[in-house]
Amino acid sequence: MTNQLQMLSENLARVREGIERACRVGRHDPEGVRLVAVTKTVSVEVAQMLVGLGQTELGENRSQELIRKDARLADADIIWHMIGHLQTNKVKKVLAVSQFIHSVDSLRLAGEISKRAGALGVTPKILLEINVSAEEAKFGLSPDQTPEVASEVGKLPNLNLVGLMTMAPFVDDAELTRPVFVQLRELSEKIAHMNLPGVTMKHLSMGMTQDYEVAVEEGATLVRVGSALFRGLKT
Ligand SMILES: *Cc1c(COP(=O)(O)O)cnc(C)c1O
Repeated sequence: MTNQLQMLSENLARVREGIERACRVGRHDPEGVRLVAVTKTVSVEVAQMLVGLGQTELGENRSQELIRKDARLADADIIWHMIGHLQTNKVKKVLAVSQFIHSVDSLRLAGEISKRAGALGVTPKILLEINVSAEEAKFGLSPDQTPEVASEVGKLPNLNLVGLMTMAPFVDDAELTRPVFVQLRELSEKIAHMNLPGVTMKHLSMGMTQDYEVAVEEGATLVRVGSALFRGLKT
């Protein structure tokens, strides 16, 4: 193994161990938690190495970069997750490659996804992005408006609304993010209890490098980790 590959492999193992540890603490089945490796800061070559190490779920926050990397990695069996703000004019291209869209923040965007998915003959899994901490600079629905939007999105054809996503504020102490994750879980439970047609609340997409262990303890099923995987690497 090259040094680069060795380091990546060790980082990946460490993150997976962190997820398992958090599952034990939170009494969750590790099978129910999936790591989405966020490759936005690394080259196609590093992304390729991740796939070689068995990490086949990858995330990008920019549509153009997602499409570019997918084209360069066309032979690999990758499950792509779009995790960043998505403009309606990019929906068609993103749907051609991405099975998950975590960052749906309006009914209008969901409507466009539905329409384009129908034309392409695909059924993407989408999550509603929630701005739990009500930060001004952030995209996302407010928790208050989420049940209503979920109800409307559930009526749309050609997509499955499978959960909620959030980004916690950046803080020095990961423990401070816990209330945000608890709130997202409670919101998802509330929506699940409404039994809305076309809506399942199977997934909670929460947790990044700074706070993924806390997020998993609180019930995350999709954790989006970037920097922790690439420490020490020439990216
Ligand atoms: C970049 C990014 C991540 C990963 O962040 P790290 O701190 O590098 O783990 C997760 N989610 C979103 C939406 C991102 O843009």
